[in-house]
Amino acid sequence: MQIRFAIDLSAGEYVRQRAWENARLDNCPLHGKGGCGFASHGTYSRQTPQGTKIARWYCPDGHSTFSLLPDCLSSRLPGSLIEVETAINEVESAPSQEAAACGLRIDVGLTGVLRWVRRRLFLIRTTLNLLTELLPVLQDCRPSISSFKAVLGVEYVLPALRMSAGPYLYVLPPPVGFGPRPQRKKGKKPPFQHKTGTDPPLKRE
Ligand SMILES: [Zn+2]
Repeated sequence: MQIRFAIDLSAGEYVRQRAWENARLDNCPLHGKGGCGFASHGTYSRQTPQGTKIARWYCPDGHSTFSLLPDCLSSRLPGSLIEVETAINEVESAPSQEAAACGLRIDVGLTGVLRWVRRRLFLIRTTLNLLTELLPVLQDCRPSISSFKAVLGVEYVLPALRMSAGPYLYVLPPPVGFGPRPQRKKGKKPPFQHKTGTDPPLKRE
C-alpha cells in the first residue's frame, strides 16, 4: 500500500538529500492501537531518478507493506510527476501525438514513445475526468493540463493534485493517485486515439 510522504522537494532534491531517511510512519495504518508487530522494513530502490529509495514498513498481522511515496514521484510508474506532466503538455500543444513524440527525449523509438505517451495520457485524462466529477471547484474544467492549470493557478498541476486530493488519492489511478489502474472498456476505442490538438473549436450559433 502506498502512502503519501508529504514533502516539498523535487525528485532530484529528494535523491540528493536522501529524504527517505526522514520518512516516518509511527502507527500501523491497519491497527491504530498497535500490537501487530508493525515495524520498519528498510527501503526499496527505484530506477529513476537514479539513486531513488522509498522507505517502507511491514505489518506481520496484516501481511501488508506500506511505502511512503514523496509528492514529487509518480505512483506505479518510473520517474517524477513533473516528467509526466511535461510530456502531456507537449502532446496537448502539438498538432498530433506523433509530432509530440518526436520532441520527447525518450530513447525507445517512435512506436515505443507513442506507447509511453498514450499510456500516460489515458491515465491522466481518466484522473482529470474523475476530479471534475469529485470536486465541485473543478467541475467546469476540461480534462486537460492547461484547463486545470488555469483554474488551479499552479505551475505544475500533477504534484498539486497529489498534495490536495486527500482521501480521493485512493480512488484516483496512478501516477497521481494510489488507486487501481482503470480498465479500458472493451470494444471502445481508447480516448488517446483522438487527435489531441489545442482547444476544441468554438461552437457556432
Ligand atoms: Zn498492523
